Amino acid sequence: MTISKGLSAFAKACLIAAAALVSYKASAQTISPAKLDALKTELMKEIDKQQKFTQEMVDMVFSFGELGFQEVETSKYLTGILQKNGFKIEQGIAGIPTAWTAKWGSGKPFIAIGSDIDCIPKASQKPGVAYHDPIIEGAPGHGEGHNAGQPLNITAILALKKIMEREKIPGTIMLWPGVAEEQLGSKAYYVREGYFKDVDACIFTHVGNNMSTSYGDGGGNGMVSVKFNFEGEAAHAAGAPWKGRSGLDAVELMNLGWNYHREHMETTQRSHYVIPDGGDQPNVVPSKASVWYYFRERSYPKIMKMYKDGIKIAEAAAKMTDTKMTYEVLGSAWPGHFNQPIAEAMYENIKAVGLPEWSDDDQTLAKALQKELGSPVEGLPGTLSGLANQRYRSPPAAVVRMILPISPGTYLQ
Ligand SMILES: [Zn+2]
Repeated sequence: MTISKGLSAFAKACLIAAAALVSYKASAQTISPAKLDALKTELMKEIDKQQKFTQEMVDMVFSFGELGFQEVETSKYLTGILQKNGFKIEQGIAGIPTAWTAKWGSGKPFIAIGSDIDCIPKASQKPGVAYHDPIIEGAPGHGEGHNAGQPLNITAILALKKIMEREKIPGTIMLWPGVAEEQLGSKAYYVREGYFKDVDACIFTHVGNNMSTSYGDGGGNGMVSVKFNFEGEAAHAAGAPWKGRSGLDAVELMNLGWNYHREHMETTQRSHYVIPDGGDQPNVVPSKASVWYYFRERSYPKIMKMYKDGIKIAEAAAKMTDTKMTYEVLGSAWPGHFNQPIAEAMYENIKAVGLPEWSDDDQTLAKALQKELGSPVEGLPGTLSGLANQRYRSPPAAVVRMILPISPGTYLQ
């Protein structure tokens, strides 16, 4: 979305995460409902005052546009702000150089607030332009709004911290980044390292096509990211091709097998691949080649079935080409299930804040973008989308969705 005109949306929406925290704290000790309302109103005003600061952070992270595991400047900038504001930074967590946590406060409740920070290959884009117009041709860029989440989290928690300090409200806040989210590269590692062990609630922000939250089955896919490597024997492709065993042949046969297999898979699956290594030059039979797959489905058993089918087809391709196959799991994520009490508290706050007042410029840009993308040209939403009510009770986590003029669909990784 347009960054300049959409700022009020970001700033106001910062309140949601923060106000939800105050609600949470209120339940853990005695703050009267009237006092809570007064604190929320104060929080909203404080956040509104931070529009320029929030805008600067959104723009700054946008300008860095760093790919997964390369979020060096982004992390330096964000942790710098947090450190200056009294947060204790732990750098390079879970063995990931650009990952960190920023903690403030003490005792319970312990609230974790996250958002992704990586960008997307070849998505360099001039802000405020509705068609693809890169700042630098071929460079990466924030095509998925990951420049917005942490800035709004920071605005929210700084405002909240001020109130917690003054009112002597106990609690610990931990901000954490989704590093290499597009490659599923970090979150499971943080969990395994115990960073969420004592967390009471986790709130996550992400762009969406309305300001919303939900509970139960989040409606997203889970997936496994796997790279298959094939190794054969190099040979001159004209002089002695019979001496060669081609890794690229194996890659092509694997893809062919998988694409035939698609016909017999459920429609909920999504699978896609790229060939990071297809050989060096045509006159050399490629001794090595690799293909990188994402296997996506709606449930753990279905994801595992795809993953195992992928291995089976890769093994068959290796057999056909007399090559050796190895595979590496590069990342995994499972379908999200979100917490009902947090979502309900959050949605009350969303209603209290309401949607931003869109300017004509906001609407013009949104409609132009929708037209460009072939989406229904309806502009930015005029009403909240409601609290999505899915079936399952779930772990202590919630996602707050911010506003983009289009639905990102199954964009999550
Ligand atoms: Zn994302």
